[in-house]
Amino acid sequence: MQKGNIGITTENIFPVIKKFLYSDHEIFLRELVSNAVDATRKLQTLAMKGEFKGEMGDQTVCISLDKEAGTLTISDRGIGMTAEEIDKYINQIAFSGANEFLEKYKDDAAAIIGHFGLGFYSAFMVASRVDILSRSYRDEAQGVKWTCDGSPAYEISDYPEKTDRGTDIVLHIADDCKEFLEKGKIESLLSKYCKFLPVAIAFGKKTEWKDGKQVDTEEDNIINDTTPLWTKTPSTLTDEDYKKFYAQLYPMTDEPLFWIHLNVDYPFHLTGVLYFPKIKNNIEIHRNKIQLYCNQVFVTDEVENIVPDFLTLLHGVIDSPDIPLNVSRSYLQSDANVKKISGYITKKVSDRLKSIFKNDRKQYEEKWDDLKLFIHYGMLSEQDFFDKAKEYALFKDTEGKYFTYDEYKELIKGNQTDKDGNLIYLYAQNAEEQYTYIEAAKAKGYSVLMLDGQLDAALVGLLEQKFEKARFSRVDGDVVDRLIQKDDQKSEPLPEGEAQRLSTLFTGRLPKMDKTEFHVEAAQLGAEAAPVVITQSEYMRRMKEMSRLQAGMSFYGEMPDMYSLVLNADHALVKNILDGCHAATDEQLKPIESDLAGLKARRAALEQVQAKKKADELTEEEKADAQKCNDDIKKQEEQRDSILGAYAEGNPLISQLIDLALLQNGLLRGEALSRFVSRSIELMK
Ligand code: ADP
Repeated sequence: MQKGNIGITTENIFPVIKKFLYSDHEIFLRELVSNAVDATRKLQTLAMKGEFKGEMGDQTVCISLDKEAGTLTISDRGIGMTAEEIDKYINQIAFSGANEFLEKYKDDAAAIIGHFGLGFYSAFMVASRVDILSRSYRDEAQGVKWTCDGSPAYEISDYPEKTDRGTDIVLHIADDCKEFLEKGKIESLLSKYCKFLPVAIAFGKKTEWKDGKQVDTEEDNIINDTTPLWTKTPSTLTDEDYKKFYAQLYPMTDEPLFWIHLNVDYPFHLTGVLYFPKIKNNIEIHRNKIQLYCNQVFVTDEVENIVPDFLTLLHGVIDSPDIPLNVSRSYLQSDANVKKISGYITKKVSDRLKSIFKNDRKQYEEKWDDLKLFIHYGMLSEQDFFDKAKEYALFKDTEGKYFTYDEYKELIKGNQTDKDGNLIYLYAQNAEEQYTYIEAAKAKGYSVLMLDGQLDAALVGLLEQKFEKARFSRVDGDVVDRLIQKDDQKSEPLPEGEAQRLSTLFTGRLPKMDKTEFHVEAAQLGAEAAPVVITQSEYMRRMKEMSRLQAGMSFYGEMPDMYSLVLNADHALVKNILDGCHAATDEQLKPIESDLAGLKARRAALEQVQAKKKADELTEEEKADAQKCNDDIKKQEEQRDSILGAYAEGNPLISQLIDLALLQNGLLRGEALSRFVSRSIELMK
């Protein structure tokens, strides 16, 4: 028997491994099973080359638990190791600067393990003692046993009991790690890390019901699929195969929309299958996680630094031996291979979308609504992707018709270009709430887009930058005649006094609303248009929408909602109100108005004189004059407004028209709504 010390510079590496790697210590199983698989594949290679001529026999890697003995054993029938090989591969794990390195990567277990080829030693994270029972595939080889209790001391001896080729790694599970003696625990670890390993892995035997209980059968319980879908040739696979694999990866999820089979040999190796899931509303819940494999060994489902953010919305598998898996996450991003991989995947995804769009536009349109969030996210976050996707990204109009950006531009060019040559894209965000506005725009021959997606507001901002001379305007951004300002300004403007009177009458009757402000104006919208229209400024609304999504814009968030209440002076009802008001108040208002006219003329004269002087040249008398004139005007105006106010109060039609407009915009609530209902009933009596 030989005794010795494991060749590491740190006095005792195991406590270090155990302590630093605690959080990730379940990966020991992945490491040991991968070693067993590697040893098996090495033998297969030797057999293929003719260097091994013996019986291959059953090559299944077996995992077994012995609860009584407190052991977990991983057995393979691979190449095995001679005593010399154990010495070389297991004992001599010499590395320099171990402490320094451990310190640096103490939070990143995978980095430590991978960096030093400590794979095997991860066994000590859960075992108080590890035995290696091995026998090399070479004809003359003898069985050998290596045992180590976690101190740097090991023992190695002949082990003639090992008659079969291959290696058993026996873990004597430590007292504080008893969970790894639980069948369920090992099952779940195998399913997480080893589900797609290329050599059959058996965990115990298949069971069956017999005499009212589960009993083992003779058959191995194989836990993996050795040739998962992504390793196969696409031409041999059917749609059903892809869907089945998807269901295997993500049970209980909706069917995917479509998929891409990745297969690259140069300049890096990468295979995999990416699925486009249905993405309806919430981006977060769709992060079902792409799984990253390295030669069919599961590594992680945290692929954030490997693929661009928007691609993390996709599902599926990426397998690449060329992604440096065992480095810190921040390092990954700057790795040249990773950058290439990420660019490659982006391009593939885009090519796939484009080809579906070109070859099967109907199918593409049908799936657009489930797909658009993903595409928009990509367009917003990756310039490269935008440049490609702009050719197959679609607009949908309020009638459910789809257009590419170019097609849509052609469609609206004729009728929706304003006098300054800007193309105006009209859109709605809610077909129900904005129904009247949509209809009004359509009646003018305009096309209205449906932009009701989560990212559409942001997309609108982006498209305005990217498209030349283009502006997006929600259909209720202004009265329909002013949505697209063209040259044909018709009809005489309303006399100022009349406009003023109308807006005074209506302003006084607006219900008070929290955080909501109205600007009241009179306009001539034609006898057919609604008597009162509420519009919301595009700019302010967008700023408020953005402030909800973006930090640092709370200023806009705090601002009240701003609406315009546009009174249609052409409408018969509004005309009636104005006429009625004249009849009822002209007599009272006449002296006030003539006073006002006099006062205003006087003020204008004073201002003219005073404008010629500097502020400090004005005499006290002049200042007092101006002040008094202003005060008088104010007094008269107040009096006028109170007369108009009294009239407005006495004419329920004014409140009624306002409330109807509010109601149409979902703005009439609470007490105001209840008053409206009572008033309506009153009016019907
Ligand atoms: P790595 O697998 O990264 O090389 P490990 O510490 O896991 O590092 O293993 C060290 C070496 O020990 C392996 O490269 C292999 O040569 C040998 N080895 C480990 N496990 C086995 C096994 N089950 N059968 C044969 N050789 C093995």
